[in-house]
Amino acid sequence: MNKSAICIVLVNTSHPGNIGAVARAMKNMGLVELRLVAPARFPAEEANWRAVAASDVLESALVVDTLAEAIGDCQLVIGTSARGRRIPWPVLDPRHCAEQALRAAGREQRVAFVFGREDRGLTNEELQQCNLHLHIPTHEDYTSLNLAMAVQIVAYELRMQAVSAELPDDACAHWDEPLSTAAAMEHYYKHLEQTLIEIGFLDPAAPRQLMPRLRRLYGRLRLDEMEMNILRGILTETQKRIRT
Ligand code: SAH
Repeated sequence: MNKSAICIVLVNTSHPGNIGAVARAMKNMGLVELRLVAPARFPAEEANWRAVAASDVLESALVVDTLAEAIGDCQLVIGTSARGRRIPWPVLDPRHCAEQALRAAGREQRVAFVFGREDRGLTNEELQQCNLHLHIPTHEDYTSLNLAMAVQIVAYELRMQAVSAELPDDACAHWDEPLSTAAAMEHYYKHLEQTLIEIGFLDPAAPRQLMPRLRRLYGRLRLDEMEMNILRGILTETQKRIRT
């Protein structure tokens, strides 16, 4: 995906520190395109402090006077809001918005995520310039997040969408050892059962469900050959100790 296909737009931000924290949140998640609509103070030292190693995002930020200018070249505009507004609008959570955004970016569209003022968010008029609304599902007792934290959550979901497209579904797809075969597992279960009897943990006269439970446990784990050898080694040493 083209990194600059997705931009973050901040409207009338009061605290430059928040702008810096947004730049950092963006860069951590691979976003670079920041647009500022009439910030109260920018450039500002506090912004650079909070951006730390993301000052390049601040330096390349576009500063404009109106939201319309900031989103003019975008095909998909997503406005964020901490609360419901008068007229219901299509509203999605960050995960589903990220899905839509990546899909759009994949089709060469430009996408904007618009964030509001620290004290009163976006106006209804601004929200009505958006195709979709995004709401982070907070607890109803306190729905308003800090601006940069809201950006962080959205940027993280975008990142997850981007990397999950690259990652195989199976988290263990790249492994250093082959997985144990069913036959090897059977040998292991016999060895384990024998050892458990010898140490007095398993009573063959009343075995209960111990072995089925252990089978279920190892079945969920799916041991590789090296892990199997380690466990077999432990059993062998245990037997040696109790036999002497
Ligand atoms: N008091 C304002 C909240 C401002 S918080 C209001 O009621 O709208 C500053 C910005 O952070 C918001 O404009 C929005 O962009 C973002 N934000 C904060 N909490 C959010 C939430 N729960 N869902 C989506 N965006 C949120």
